[in-house]
Amino acid sequence: MTARCSSCFLPVDTDGDQAAAHDFPYAVEAYGNCPGSGKATVAEHATPPLVWGVEPGRSLVELGVLPSPLPGVTQEKWTVSITGARFTHTAWCMWCRRAVSTFREGGTIRIGFDRRGRSFETYQAGPLPEFADVPCPNTGCGNTRLSSRMWSRSDSRALPVADVQNVQGREWEQLRRRLRVWTVDMTPADVARLAAGA
Ligand SMILES: [Zn+2]
Ligand SMILES: [Zn+2]
Repeated sequence: MTARCSSCFLPVDTDGDQAAAHDFPYAVEAYGNCPGSGKATVAEHATPPLVWGVEPGRSLVELGVLPSPLPGVTQEKWTVSITGARFTHTAWCMWCRRAVSTFREGGTIRIGFDRRGRSFETYQAGPLPEFADVPCPNTGCGNTRLSSRMWSRSDSRALPVADVQNVQGREWEQLRRRLRVWTVDMTPADVARLAAGA
């Protein structure tokens, strides 16, 4: 079992039951020490409930949504693939009109630069878990018929959880460091270096 930081949710060295001092996963010049340094760590990932609501206000750590299984990272030229990523996906309960969320495992995020030096980012959430007739988790709602079908119709986008976003931020920074370009626009020399490969 690897301890995870209570702030960045990435694996961290421990000092007793506290996270050893460590930098924020990216943009250290801006963020410095991770706020989880010196604080109690959180347990390794768990399976979240199929559905959770805006109430009773438990944190995503208490619900088991965070930390998530650590995604895999592979790289090919200027494309980094982050695989096995947990996403959350929000919809609305038809009865109480409040938000309800579910999770999707096994998503893929691809980030990188195309041949012209334009950056791209694509999100592909994993499959929806199949379920039917689950009670709405929101207090006071009597709806016992939530099903995964309502998420497949939901207009909202599935989004990666916080630790996956931190991995994504870290990989962007490493890509840019490797290319030595920190601006949106690339010079012809930058694009030539990009074309020359990794
Ligand atoms: Zn941290
Ligand atoms: Zn409801």
